[in-house]
Amino acid sequence: MIKGQQLVNALDNSEGVVFITEADGTIVFVNKTFEKVYGYNRDEVRGKKPSILKSGFHSRQFYDELWQTISAGKSWSGDMVNRTKSGEIVSEKTFISPVFSDDDSTITGYIAVKFNISERKKLKEQLEIREQLFEKLFENSPVGILILDDIKSEGEIIDFTVERANLKASVIFNRLSFIDQRLSSVMCNKNIAGLMKEHKTVQHGEEVYEWEDMCKGKVLEFKLFGLGRNKKCLLVTDISPKVKMESRLKESEARLRELNETKDKIFSIIAHDLRSPFQTIIGFASLLSDGMDSCSSTELKKMAAQISDVSEQTYKLLEDLLTWSKSQLGQLSPVPVKVNLKEIVEKVFCHLRQQADKKNISLINDISEADVAKADKDMVEFIVRNLVHNGVKFTTPGGEVRCFTEREDGYIRIRVKDTGIGIQPAKQKGIFSLSGNLSTKGTSEEAGTGLGLMLSREMVEMNNGRIAVESEPGKGSCFTVVLPEATF
Ligand code: ADP
Repeated sequence: MIKGQQLVNALDNSEGVVFITEADGTIVFVNKTFEKVYGYNRDEVRGKKPSILKSGFHSRQFYDELWQTISAGKSWSGDMVNRTKSGEIVSEKTFISPVFSDDDSTITGYIAVKFNISERKKLKEQLEIREQLFEKLFENSPVGILILDDIKSEGEIIDFTVERANLKASVIFNRLSFIDQRLSSVMCNKNIAGLMKEHKTVQHGEEVYEWEDMCKGKVLEFKLFGLGRNKKCLLVTDISPKVKMESRLKESEARLRELNETKDKIFSIIAHDLRSPFQTIIGFASLLSDGMDSCSSTELKKMAAQISDVSEQTYKLLEDLLTWSKSQLGQLSPVPVKVNLKEIVEKVFCHLRQQADKKNISLINDISEADVAKADKDMVEFIVRNLVHNGVKFTTPGGEVRCFTEREDGYIRIRVKDTGIGIQPAKQKGIFSLSGNLSTKGTSEEAGTGLGLMLSREMVEMNNGRIAVESEPGKGSCFTVVLPEATF
């Protein structure tokens, strides 16, 4: 048998609050835990009723039912909210059992055991708050979230089942339901295992998989990480607007750079290319006016020829500048007509024959009457003139510039081939742009601006064509312009 003091010791060491009352509810014993929880000492509560602990939280009916149960000889258990001596509220799981006389005929008292559940309740409440918070974040997240279950084969993850997906994921993947779908059926790239292998990183000791991919016309950013117990979380962000913005920024940066180059080019043309021919013209003109009588007719002829050459170059430069300013202002719009290429080349040759003859360069027109392109006539003339002019400029005396065509699938290739000095491979790349095109002097020191090929490319493209160059230094160059063949 347990002795009385042993029982008191055992009850004192119990984690639960224990108190014993007489049949009318008068407290006869409370354990140490009671003293600790409620702040009353034993002597204070002995002889009092448990009602001293009432918090006012429960209704009268609650206490009536409790009392009816235990006074009928039954045990009662339930959650109870009480108040300590200092007024603090405690939540307790309470068990009350009646104590019977030896012959079980009457109730001699009651024994109540209570366990403080305030902490547990608080934790539960916190957990509920967190769950609600998670739900709110999950559903309102601007990022698509998918909760996944691993599907393994021979220990390796091969795919996932979608357990949950939020609203944003529905918007991104443009589908209403994900539940029990395989991730591979949702994604555009079906090779999930391959993606994971390729994009594995370790962050804070955990495996994380991050990659970008195109799906349904959008650029998506993915981040996959473990949640423990064969579960993973996949975050999906639609970065298309960001990518678009970046490409717009890049475009406007390139445009600004181009404008800056344009500005530099204009200043360099004004400072150099326009100034020096005028200096030459003014110099020769004053020589002519001052010494007309003392100069021999050969000298006079030479001076007049120089003035004519320089004026010719300056006129071409002004023409190029005018065309360029039109193209910069968006005023160049092609009017496609039937263009007889043989006629155009003949017209250009006529214009450049004198220059070619001076260098003893043959101009050969191998184009047939049947070669008719669909393009703007003035633009084609501008392009061909530039190419033939360059051919003459960069070919040494005795050489030739030949124009011929090839037809292919509704297109005509116009080739302008010279036997000149050729172009270094490094220079060929940027030859049709303003930035990559450095003008060099011709074989007879002819000056240039570096505008001709850039403008020619712009015009070719406006006429739905292409321009390209093949060249070997020392052997010559061949420029090809591809234009649509006229079918009307
Ligand atoms: P420009 O002839 O006024 O300098 P272009 O844009 O027509 O301007 O040509 C740019 C440069 O490309 C030339 O200065 C020259 O260095 C090179 N180039 C063009 N055509 C030829 C060619 N047929 N042979 C050799 N170099 C050429």
